[in-house]
Amino acid sequence: MIEMQRLRSTLDRIDRKGYGAYKDLSGSYDFGSFTLFVDRVQRDPFAPPSLIRVRAEDNAFDRDLFANQVRRVALEDFLARSVEGEIRRVVRGNRGSGGSGRVEIQRTSQVVLPRTSMIVEPAYVEARMAVGLPARGRSVDSRAAHTMLLEELPEVVRRGLVPAPEGGVDVQRAKFHVETVEDADHLRGLLPWLGLVAFVADGSVLPRESGSSDRPLESGALPFRSPEEYRVEVKLPNRDVVSGMGVPEGVTLVAGGGFHGKSTLLSALSWGVYDHVPGDGRELVVARGDAVKVRAEDGRSISGVDISAMIGALPGGRTTEDFSTPNASGSTSQAANIAEALEVGTSLLLVDEDTSATNFMIRDERMRELVRREPISPFIDLVRPLHRSLGISTIVVVGGVGDYLDVADRVILLEDYSPSDATPRSREVTRKFPPRAPLTDRDAGPPRERAIDASSIDLRRGKRQSARGRGLHTIELGRERVDLSYLEQLAEGGQTEAVARIIGELVAAGEARGVGEFVLEALASVSEKGLDSLGDFRGHPGEMSQPRAQELAAAINRIRPLRAGPRT
Ligand code: ADP
Ligand code: MG
Repeated sequence: MIEMQRLRSTLDRIDRKGYGAYKDLSGSYDFGSFTLFVDRVQRDPFAPPSLIRVRAEDNAFDRDLFANQVRRVALEDFLARSVEGEIRRVVRGNRGSGGSGRVEIQRTSQVVLPRTSMIVEPAYVEARMAVGLPARGRSVDSRAAHTMLLEELPEVVRRGLVPAPEGGVDVQRAKFHVETVEDADHLRGLLPWLGLVAFVADGSVLPRESGSSDRPLESGALPFRSPEEYRVEVKLPNRDVVSGMGVPEGVTLVAGGGFHGKSTLLSALSWGVYDHVPGDGRELVVARGDAVKVRAEDGRSISGVDISAMIGALPGGRTTEDFSTPNASGSTSQAANIAEALEVGTSLLLVDEDTSATNFMIRDERMRELVRREPISPFIDLVRPLHRSLGISTIVVVGGVGDYLDVADRVILLEDYSPSDATPRSREVTRKFPPRAPLTDRDAGPPRERAIDASSIDLRRGKRQSARGRGLHTIELGRERVDLSYLEQLAEGGQTEAVARIIGELVAAGEARGVGEFVLEALASVSEKGLDSLGDFRGHPGEMSQPRAQELAAAINRIRPLRAGPRT
């Protein structure tokens, strides 16, 4: 315990000195059962907290729990949450001015992701945290620091990071967490083999607590029950056969009256690209991992995107194969969102009437009669060609636009949150009306490839360069802010941070690159070298979570000064 003594004496020596004296803590300390690394010391109590790592030097977990990538990520996720919980139980918090006394670990959402906050290696388990070194006014408070670092922290490590019986981690719960995630991942992997784009297990709880919370609705939720016609049974690695609704490839309509649960189902499917924690209710709700929810987003900027499949020549003869605007309309923004999703690659588009531009979705007979010069080919005419020529399926939620019945392979009707197969009835209904004449029946081609000119992004901010995430929805690139509010599948701030740093690397490399190509290469490099490789120094790499290619591309596409255009 000689090293704890060293920490203790340093603390004694700097007591009541100016806050800057804390920098003497930098370094590592062997606590016996774990090592404390003090990687970065804050300059004053109000500055961003100091960064530390604690490494339990003996990984006493059963090898089985981290035998492969999926299991390891799941165990890391479990331990990150375990430490989060123990911090709340053990750490008193506020011990003076500013962030004094605070101990934090990167926040988690309802989904399971690789994160920089927790690393499980065969030889050790390491948690990365932030601490507010305590101050009285602006001077070092050694007594409080002593309690934090030498009493609270070891207790957090023992209870949150070390398996029972030596530590406090419930091994059965850890195992259940890992197996739940493995099952979901396996299920998602089966989808293409089953000819499905999504699966919702019977008994799933889809509604959320509120519009601002992703936790399950606690009371009054009607558990999901598949219509017989779509019931599929699958065998999963860690449990017996699971039954639920399989959504086949093609064009699927989700219809129903207002407030009957349509958007809730679609939203659950859109989160099905990720694995969820046990207790979420959506553990076995999965969709193709590259599914993209597309919506209208008027006001966004667009840089050189080929939206010609959806929108023809604009007023003034403006072409739409290389379309740019600082201020898109509802329909052009939704068209760009689709073209960009195709560019990075997707096999499933999710579209909700609630968040779509009406004139993008449909144009009825009367309006066709009145307005002859309309550049938009509505989405309704695109969904079949998308599937036929590009193999891209669509799930569309509609309440008002019955014309979509004509183009759907199947119709799922929601009544009182309960789904049924309305395909035969929808066929009867469509027979009663004259068939709708499509405005176009062209085959859909992939959008023209674009290159991004990295030099159009300026990271300078005063004397420094910066590419940082700010919360879930904002990226700061130099003086520029990129608004990600409409990326509905962005799960946590750590993803935003990782995306920002990858964009930083793009700019540093300074080349002109194809968007899709860059995104896929950048993420391949992250999976090979780990998220830590996006950190800017050895030690604590910052708080990051694994982003998807789809969100990374979407963030790049929303950079306002971005110059991009057809690849030459
Ligand atoms: P729609 O899109 O059909 O208008 P929503 O999906 O927005 O309907 O759902 C309306 C309300 O019903 C929401 O408050 C939602 O949380 C709730 N809800 C949805 N599905 C269920 C369910 N299975 N059990 C209980 N409440 C639900
Ligand atoms: Mg709705």
